[in-house]
Amino acid sequence: MSVASWRIKANTLLTKSLPVDIIRKSVETSVYNWSVLNSKSVFEHKKKKCVVDRKNFARKQKLRLLHLYRQKMRSIVYNLETNDDFAKNVLENNVDLENISNLSPCDINPSLWFPIIEKRESRRLKIEKLNEQLNERLFPKNEYDNGLFKCDSCLKKNTQHVSFQTRGADEPETTYVYCVDCDIHWKA
Ligand SMILES: [Zn+2]
Repeated sequence: MSVASWRIKANTLLTKSLPVDIIRKSVETSVYNWSVLNSKSVFEHKKKKCVVDRKNFARKQKLRLLHLYRQKMRSIVYNLETNDDFAKNVLENNVDLENISNLSPCDINPSLWFPIIEKRESRRLKIEKLNEQLNERLFPKNEYDNGLFKCDSCLKKNTQHVSFQTRGADEPETTYVYCVDCDIHWKA
């Protein structure tokens, strides 16, 4: 099936959710332009390396364009048909139609995605806090001795260290150094 016949088919698919001709046309053109742009970007760097294989190159680019167009169009039709708010926003021109292919799932369906993103963010913060607490236990601030060791990575002396008796009592202590700037630690 050619790209042109897919564009006609897509227009029919969009009619149900977008009965307004000018808006439907804008959405379809936007998806087409997005697909052309993205099918090029993947192959642009390969083109230079492989001049001999021009014919094969053009064929692959066309297949890629068709693939991107169908995938994006399917996703937009699906969202328009299952998400009334999104369809309403498109019809009322509250969505930048030229940019419709670049919308994130959260832009398209905020009521579905916001709680998921919020949950993920709160989990990330929890893990971050836990890591901070662990670091604080390993390198308590009151035991810091600023600048005794030099960091091999940034070559500065903004370091803190702590010593442990890890082996037998007659063995020397093991010293762990922490670079505040690089957020790394190592055994001295
Ligand atoms: Zn450093």
